[in-house]
Order: sequence, then structure tokens, then C-alpha cells
Amino acid sequence: MEQKQFQAESKRMLDLMIHSIYTHKEIFLRELISNASDAIDKLYFRSLTDQTIGKSRDDFYIEIRPDQEKRTLTITDNGVGMSAEELEQNLGVIAHSGSRAFKSENTLDENTDIIGQFGVGFYSAFMVAKRVTVRTKAFGSDTAYEWQSEGADGYTIDTCSKADVGTEIILELLEDTEDEQYSEFLEEFRIRQLVKKYSDYIRFPIRMEVSREKLKEGSESEYETHIEIETLNSMTPMWKKNKNELTDEDYNKFYRDKFFDYNGAPLAHIHNRSEGAVTYNSLLYIPAKAPFDYYSKEYEKGLQLYASGVMIMEKCADLLPDHFSFVRGLVDSEDLSLNISREMLQHDRQLKLIAKSLEKSIKNELTKLLNTDREKYTEFWKAFGIQLKFGVYNEYGKNKELLQDLLLFHSSGCDDAEGYTTLSEYVTRMREDQKFIYYAAGETVTRCASLPAAELVRDKGYEVLYLTDNVDEFALQMMQKYQDKEFKNVSAGDLGIESDEDKTALEEKNTAAKDLFESMQKALEGKVKAVRLSNRLKNHAVCLSSDGDISLEMEKVLNTMPNAKKIQAERVLELNPEHPVFATLERLQTEDTEKLAKYSDLLYQQALLIEGMPLEDPVALSKLICELMV
Ligand code: ADP
Repeated sequence: MEQKQFQAESKRMLDLMIHSIYTHKEIFLRELISNASDAIDKLYFRSLTDQTIGKSRDDFYIEIRPDQEKRTLTITDNGVGMSAEELEQNLGVIAHSGSRAFKSENTLDENTDIIGQFGVGFYSAFMVAKRVTVRTKAFGSDTAYEWQSEGADGYTIDTCSKADVGTEIILELLEDTEDEQYSEFLEEFRIRQLVKKYSDYIRFPIRMEVSREKLKEGSESEYETHIEIETLNSMTPMWKKNKNELTDEDYNKFYRDKFFDYNGAPLAHIHNRSEGAVTYNSLLYIPAKAPFDYYSKEYEKGLQLYASGVMIMEKCADLLPDHFSFVRGLVDSEDLSLNISREMLQHDRQLKLIAKSLEKSIKNELTKLLNTDREKYTEFWKAFGIQLKFGVYNEYGKNKELLQDLLLFHSSGCDDAEGYTTLSEYVTRMREDQKFIYYAAGETVTRCASLPAAELVRDKGYEVLYLTDNVDEFALQMMQKYQDKEFKNVSAGDLGIESDEDKTALEEKNTAAKDLFESMQKALEGKVKAVRLSNRLKNHAVCLSSDGDISLEMEKVLNTMPNAKKIQAERVLELNPEHPVFATLERLQTEDTEKLAKYSDLLYQQALLIEGMPLEDPVALSKLICELMV
């Protein structure tokens, strides 16, 4: 018999397969099952219009048969089969996509979609087999053919006897080595596991003979082995079912089984079918709790990706933006090719469209949750809110519009320290004369609330947001405004709450005390940029504020980052003109400049303490206090 050579490209592909490009050799089974399913699709499609085929949907199946003794694994289908020419064309030439040719010739209804794929699938058999035999009989033909190959040396085609239409692929597995146990592919449990993992939702039954131990009839203790035919796949994917058929319980159970999340039921699910520029089904979940590694580098975001019911990727990162990286779920599209590589996927236009529309539905779902079930949303916020705030900040604020209405903050407008407000709720509570959205930053709500400046703004009747996460202020700075209202740190710059007269009065007092401030600033050389009076203080004698974009709180955060360059806010020591301490300072300016220098230092360090900033030299401060006490 004539030994034929593979075409050049095919040979190269074959080489790649034999020296396996895939680390997961197990996917060969997925590929062969998928081909079998396509072949059945083709015949089923014809049977819809051709009565002579005499087959109904239920007659089609795929069978897997392991033979331990012969070390063979056989995959059989009763699909359309191949003629001699087709065998030659399909299995001798790589990159000829039979499926694609078929698809363009026919308009298919939704039961007969076929994956238009690029032909690497079949050759993956050579990752696990030393010899592959394909026995096939095309529909409408009397002759059956056998194709056989041991890989690189080419292949043979001969006639053979085969009663039924369809294809049988026999893999003679490679010998086990230290690294690879090919015989695992003959184990019942392993095959079952692989079918579940990759091909569960193939729409025709995948059957296998399995042995079961059963009690002997009439006996209570004696067992005998029964051979049964079992269907290994569940056939209808949950996400292809009609929403009306499914209960919350169904969704939750599927979530638990599929994503192994035992942290309780998910907070919400989003089940969609989209038909438009790209057709896909998606089933997404918003988990109730963050996985233990969520806020670490180890966490990998991504959705499972299926091409027509066949899983092609466990975690497709490109489907989820970072700000929604907590979402779990899957996407199944008929428009994707089965053998698309990771690199190609990144540039895939369809995939980008899907990602964009998923982002929109996730946002809508979160908005719905926020508006209809505040308690649940708060639970979500506690688990993943930080991620959304990073989302506002990252990529130079590209996503701030998308995310701003999903943000929650603690606030003086809430009933208690645990409460949260949205920005839009804050704005509806704003007073008519209010120009800014005020906020105070600190480690806890209590600390924020007790900042002198926060107290003052509150006393004037304005609401203050309490920012307790490191990222908060960075996010707000990125946003700058919400509904045209600027954000304003109560500890920085002009708060816009003083009357013009107050301002002028303060200005005058500042000018009058110019010499005093000069002396004080000299004493605090290198520590503060300026000393001045402020209306920001009610009961306190001093506070620190900052000029410029970096607030004191941001300075703290920036300096905790690894390898951070030392960053300093432009510190300003502000004094309360109404406080008796100020009168003392004025007196010392004329009577005792040495003491004035010491008092300045003391006040500065006090201000650091109030802000929760580290002291430069606590021992020196302690000494200074004692000195002033005697
Ligand atoms: P692809 O399936 O991506 O086109 P493959 O290399 O897996 O590439 O298969 C090449 C072609 O061989 C298929 O397009 C199909 O026409 C044919 N083929 C493979 N397996 C079968 C089968 N079980 N029954 C009928 N035709 C098959």
C-alpha cells in the first residue's frame, strides 16, 4: 500500500503536536469529541430536510471505548463520516476547515451550529498516541475507508469493512514514561472527569460502558459486576436554559459546583443571551465574599470561555476589566473558534465586544442592587468596594464616570459610623449655598470626625465624607468633581464657607502678625512652609494643613509604599486667632523669642499628633515638655 506524505504545513503541525506544544495533553479528547459532535451536527442538519436518512435527534451519539489490554482508546460517532477524498483532504492537509466550508454553504438553525475552526484539532491525537487509525463511512456511500498514520512518516488510506455510517478513531496510546502516564486515559474515572471538564455541554450524548458493582439478585451480601452504558455529559448547559425554568437555588448550586465557592450563596447572578454584533450566552456571578487571595498578586481574574459549548479557556482575563475582577462566571459564544490561541484572543474583535457588553451588564446589576437592596449592596461593598475605588483611580481615571455612582463612603450625614452614603445622596442633601463636597481623611471614622477642621465644617451645617481607606483620597482627586461639585479636603486651602467680611478680617490679622509668623517659621525651618491664622479652627489652638495637591493623608499613604521616594506635603501650621495661646505667642514675640521658638516647636508637634503623623523625635518632645513645665 502506498505511503502518502503529509503536506508541508501539516507535517510541521504534526511535529509540533508530537513534541507537544500543549502542556495539557488531555485536551486531545476534547478535540476529538468536538469533531465527532460536528460530524453529527452535519448529518443531523441534513436529516432535517432529507427524510431518507431516517434518523431523529435522539439517535445520535458519541461513544468512548477504552481497552486496557490493547492499550487503545476508541472514539466513535454516527455522524456524517468521510469519503476517501474527504479523508485525504481533511486529515492529510492541515488548515483546511471542513466545518467552515460547510457553514458558509448552509444557513443553519440554532440546533445545528458548527464551530468554524482551524484544523489543528485532529492532530492533537498524536500527543498521546503512537498510531492513529480512522475508520469511516460517509453518508450515502457503500464503501468504508481506513486512514492510518504513525505521525511523521505519512499516512495510508485503504478500504475496510464498516457497517454503519460514521467515524471511528482508534488511538494506540504511547508507552508510559516517567513524566507521562498515557495509560491514565484508559481509566474510567479519568475519562469521565475529562468529559465533565471539557465536553459536558456537547449536545449529543457521550456514552461509555462502565462497570458497576451491584448486589446479586436474591443475595444480601454478594456483589456482581454489571456492565452499563452511561451518558457522561449533561448535554444542556445551564446557561443555555431559559431563565424562567431556573430558580435561585439552581443558580446558586451551579455556582458552588462550578466555582467551588463555599463562602455562601453569591449576591447576584447575571444571565444573558445576546444576539447582535456577536452572539453569546453569559452567566456571571457576584460573590458574597472576597476569596482569601483576592487582594494579593496571586489572584487571577477571568471568566471561563466556551466556543459553542466546548470549554476553550479556564480563565479568560480579557473578558473582565480590573475593576470588576471579582466577578466569576462564563461566556459561551458561537462566534469564536475552538482552536484560537491566547495571543490571538487578545486581539479578537468579537471578544472585545463581548467584554464591553459584559462590563455594562455588571455595572447595571450593581446599580440595581444598590437601588433595590441596600443591605446586600453594603455587603458587596465591604468585600469589593476597594477594588472599585482603585478602578476610579487606575488608568488615569479612564473609568471614573462608569464607577462613580457605585461608590460608597462613610459620612457625617449617616446615622452612625457604620453607615454609608453614595455621592448622589450627598449631593441631594447639600445646602443651597454649598459649593464643595467636603471630606476628611483618616484611619477611622472617629479620627476623621475628630479632626478640628471637620468639626468646624460640620458645625457650620455642612456634611463631611469620612475617607478611611488609603485609596480614597487618590480616587477623589482623580475624579476632581462629582455633578460639577468639586471635592474639598477640610484640611486644605480655602473651604469656601467664610463670609467676605470674615476673610478680610482674617487677612488683616494675618498682616498684623507678620513678624510673629516670620519668627515662628524660622524656628520651624524645613518643617513648615508657612505659619498663618485660620478660621478653620474652633476650639483647638493649632492644626496642620497643606497647600498643593498632596494632602497630609496622601503623604502618609505614599510613604508607606515600598521603595517610595520620600514625599512631603507642603505643610502649613495654622493658628486659631481666638485661642488664648495666640495671645501668649504675641506676647512672647516681644518679650522672649527663645521661649517663642520652643512654643512653636511644641505647637507644631501637637499638630502632627492631631493629624496622626509620625513625630520626628518623640524623646526630644518629651524633654521639651518637661523643660517648659518647670
Ligand atoms: P477542524 O475540525 O478544526 O476543521 P480537524 O483537524 O480537527 O480540524 O479536522 C479536520 C477535518 O476533518 C474536519 O473539519 C472534518 O471535516 C474532518 N473530521 C474530523 N473528525 C471527523 C469525524 N469524526 N467525522 C467526520 N469528519 C471529521
